[in-house]
Amino acid sequence: MSISLSAPAADSIERLEIVNPASEAILAELTSADRNDLDRMVAAATEAFPAWRDTPLAQRKTAIQGIGKLITENADELAALLTAEQGKPLAQARSELSGAAAWCTGIADQAIEDEMLQETAERIVVKRHVPLGVVGAIVPWNYPVALAIWKIAPAIVTGNCIIVKPSPFTPLTTMRVIELAQALLPTGVLQVIVGGDALGPWMTEHPGITKISFTGSTATGRRVMASCSASLKRVTLELGGNDAAIVFPDVDVDAVVPQIFWTAFVNSGQLCVATKRVYIHEDIYDEFRDALIAFSRTVMMGDGAAEGVALGPVQNRQQYERLQSLLAETAGGAANQITPQPVSNSSGYFVPVTFIDNPPEDSSIVQEEQFGPILPLLKFSDTDDVIRRVNASEFGLGGSVWTTDPDLAIEVAQKIDSGSVWINQPQYLSPFVPFSGHKQSGLGVENGRDGILEYTNVQTITRGPIG
Ligand code: NAD
Repeated sequence: MSISLSAPAADSIERLEIVNPASEAILAELTSADRNDLDRMVAAATEAFPAWRDTPLAQRKTAIQGIGKLITENADELAALLTAEQGKPLAQARSELSGAAAWCTGIADQAIEDEMLQETAERIVVKRHVPLGVVGAIVPWNYPVALAIWKIAPAIVTGNCIIVKPSPFTPLTTMRVIELAQALLPTGVLQVIVGGDALGPWMTEHPGITKISFTGSTATGRRVMASCSASLKRVTLELGGNDAAIVFPDVDVDAVVPQIFWTAFVNSGQLCVATKRVYIHEDIYDEFRDALIAFSRTVMMGDGAAEGVALGPVQNRQQYERLQSLLAETAGGAANQITPQPVSNSSGYFVPVTFIDNPPEDSSIVQEEQFGPILPLLKFSDTDDVIRRVNASEFGLGGSVWTTDPDLAIEVAQKIDSGSVWINQPQYLSPFVPFSGHKQSGLGVENGRDGILEYTNVQTITRGPIG
């Protein structure tokens, strides 16, 4: 498959190769944007901003709903492109796109109106949520379209202009979605810029950008925040996670195993809120581990474009190599590596599903974010002790509790230090439900009313008696 898409005009000659992770074939070559391209886009967004801010809310809502409709209408083309550049199986690419479309509607439905705070004979006080200006959106490679829409929809509906920087590994589908969406918006309101490693820092430093909404790793998030501090840009940071699932001995093993499997391995584990460690009560540890191994044999890994494939490759060579080094480190340790279905592709970044059988708590595979299809299984016997182990982490993004005891479930969920906790169900994300990271998993909120408000400043207007 060869794709020809135009990148923004650029004076520099830096080229970006976009690679299909299932075959390592080059899908497209793009010219990397340079600083002048960014300056031109910021200037266009700055010029478009006053008119877009003053556009009636109803029109802004219609525009964002229209973008959702365009994503749905073009889902076949977009899903094929997304699978080719990201690696996820076609069904998961479709579900990312249908999620993105649902976000457009859901965010538009919650647009924030002015609020009357006081209305007396002496004064009237109105609270407004005014847009910030030009937003820079920086997006990772795991869910490139969905995570871009999580930023585009609230930015646009609140009256901002936005420049989106996809990951240089996965820019193609985002470029196509934005190309389609631009037909519904005035020039300069929504733009996309693609570039190499220097581009993100240029955006976070740029004096014309008033907010950065960043999704990516915690290490990069720290750099983004430091850079934004120079001009006191608003920042929203959605960062890494090391989510734990806690499985109590009263669960129905057959019912829970497939659910835990998919919470960990969807998109080959490349999900910020993937289950990245499973704590299983010692009474059912062996039974649960063996059932997970058996279930994983029913799931096919391969090129996401092929029929029947449910797990794709990891997205890029760097991630592949990081996973290989985690495996090598674990191989030298005390725990068994269990690989139920080895893969034998001569090309592509394929890492087979691998379970690490009860590794030491301080091993890298337990303490770090693996972001791939390798899952440590850990034994516990005491509830307070497992909560302590789960919380002994710099991350605090999500987590889950699995038990038939409702009181225990709530008690444990409330003690987990993370922004989202799910009880007896896989990760539920919604445009209506705030999503945030505690500790070093992030700063600020996406989604829901709280997430939309992050694209605004509060302004109060107080009026005394007239005449
Ligand atoms: P990354 O941090 O390497 O890159 C993310 C984006 O930041 C890319 O667009 C990259 O080009 C850009 N970037 C790199 N250096 C930059 C800098 N100095 N300044 C500004 N921008 C810069 O992350 P990744 O490897 O693309 O994605 C995987 C990570 O993202 C994982 O840690 C995962 O948990 C996290 N993630 C978090 C969420 C969430 O909502 N919390 C969602 C998805 C992924």
